[in-house]
Amino acid sequence: MTQNKPLSILHDFYGYDAFRGSQSEIIDHVIGGGDAFVLMPTGGGKSLCFQIPAMCRDGVAIVVSPLIALMQDQITALEQMNIKAAAINSSMSAAEVSSATQQILSGELDMLYVAPERLMMPEFLNLLDQCNLALFAIDEAHCVSQWGHDFRPDYVALSLLAERFPDVPRIALTATADAPTRKDIVERLALNNGRTFVSGFDRPNIHYTIALRNSPKQQVWKFIQEKHPSDSGIIYCISRKKVDEMAAWLREQGVNARPYHAGLSSEIRAENQRQFLQDEQIIMVATIAFGMGIDKPDVRFVVHMNIPKNIEAYYQETGRAGRDGLPSNAFMVYGMEDAAMQRQWIETSDAPDEQKRIQHQKLGALLGLCETATCRRQVLLNYFDDACEPCGYCDTCEQPPETFDASVPAQKAISCAYRTDERFGVGYLTDVLLGVDNERISKFGHNQVSTYGIGKDLSKPEWQNIFRQLVASNLLIPDAKGHGGLQITAKGRAFIKNKSSLFMRHHVKSAATKSFKRSAQKPASPLTSGADKALYENLKAARSALAKAQKVPAYVIFHDKTLTELAQHKPGSLEAMLDISGIGEAKLKRYGKALLNVIIEHDNAA
Ligand code: ADP
Ligand code: ZN
Repeated sequence: MTQNKPLSILHDFYGYDAFRGSQSEIIDHVIGGGDAFVLMPTGGGKSLCFQIPAMCRDGVAIVVSPLIALMQDQITALEQMNIKAAAINSSMSAAEVSSATQQILSGELDMLYVAPERLMMPEFLNLLDQCNLALFAIDEAHCVSQWGHDFRPDYVALSLLAERFPDVPRIALTATADAPTRKDIVERLALNNGRTFVSGFDRPNIHYTIALRNSPKQQVWKFIQEKHPSDSGIIYCISRKKVDEMAAWLREQGVNARPYHAGLSSEIRAENQRQFLQDEQIIMVATIAFGMGIDKPDVRFVVHMNIPKNIEAYYQETGRAGRDGLPSNAFMVYGMEDAAMQRQWIETSDAPDEQKRIQHQKLGALLGLCETATCRRQVLLNYFDDACEPCGYCDTCEQPPETFDASVPAQKAISCAYRTDERFGVGYLTDVLLGVDNERISKFGHNQVSTYGIGKDLSKPEWQNIFRQLVASNLLIPDAKGHGGLQITAKGRAFIKNKSSLFMRHHVKSAATKSFKRSAQKPASPLTSGADKALYENLKAARSALAKAQKVPAYVIFHDKTLTELAQHKPGSLEAMLDISGIGEAKLKRYGKALLNVIIEHDNAA
């Protein structure tokens, strides 16, 4: 094999000129027969790390991927570039399986996509014994770990690969894994003798905003209207009921929105997912059941109506925005109830105590992110042992929250919880601090405790703000029964004992009416300054027509980025089009003429 084979594949098939980050190193290592564990953020370009070795090495590469429903999309995208790939899965007919089997045996495939449960079937393993295997690629590898946030029992069996096929290199890839999860993946997949490649975690094109929830629908509506009136996005809701409500409400407002949750029939889910991938302007309102393996590159925003269970989940869900590298938004609204609900779920789950303890800690880190007065990106990256300077374009960087010395009020609040036996929630504790005269307080005799009425210098919302931040900094913790009673943590006791000092964010009065700041550093539209807007729209229309004719999503033909470059450089010949990112030889043959005509017509009209 020549030295430059990976590079010429990158150019001829994918239409890109250079490898990014550690791609080239990973690819060389795997081509050389080494095992690898690859941790790279979403959109970083993990797929190439196994696809190019699959084409360079002899034999077929087996790609383990958790979602059958999305395999066909990946294969379609590869076929568009004349790369030979197929799938074998339970959604296929016996005839289709047998035809794919023939293709493998005849050695004509570069890649075969399978779900983990298929890989472990004796019949399938026997088939593999008869093939020349290039490598195993294990996508979404965090599913193998109990510590990961998406553990899948089917993945555990993958540890057999090392024993059964010791000479076939294994490459495991994921976008989210904290340190214990990483260690676990390496052990379970027996990658100890291989190399680990960790890329930076930053997703520089994602702009983070986290706000208090006060009028959720209006907050989200304002966000969509101001930032993404004609884009695609995902809105995550906490329950099926909330998903249905939100999707219906958006549709009433004339938005192309669809619901997705486990309570819908599999036909409806499949149809809604298909529409989401296909359309260029659509909002999916979903529970966390939606998203894994969705590699629609032009998702421009992800909204969370409630907090997810931890930072890894948040990072993975928000990471579904902007895979194409173009500017995108992550917007979350949250409230105190969220923390209580998440805690209750952890406690009522079947997980062993040790795992529950870890989940509580992870939840705490997420609350810390919500309440931080420093750069969100820094908090996120620190969580993954990565680092950055204040980014300058998250919400806390753009409008730094004012902080105040909250040491005294924090002591009053914690003492109040103590004096009332750590059984009551924010509302009640605030009433006691404010010295409210009501039946409940008298019934419990809490109008007699020393903290009754010592908080009259602050308003009710100000006390709520303080309690929320006490929970976020793990000084108070909602009880596990889900009643919202606040208990004092060991850290909280130490705080009182040591009379420590504490700074907090000021209470923000009317977050709902605050406008979204246009980021100074990042353009709000995918169009770069030199691009011709009218030509871009014409190219988009042409792409839509090509996609419709083949019944494939528009991005399978070309990404927005490719159209942007075409609108900027306006190549005048097919040959010149090859210099545009995302146009390789196969796509040039398929679509070059059609798009060149659009450019020429546009020039003639001008
Ligand atoms: P991941 O699986 O890590 O989320 P993908 O493999 O889907 O990321 O890649 C994200 C996007 O970046 C895809 O559109 C891909 O074609 C593109 N890409 C990957 N590597 C390169 C590269 N070297 N140059 C240009 N674009 C690339
Ligand atoms: Zn920042």
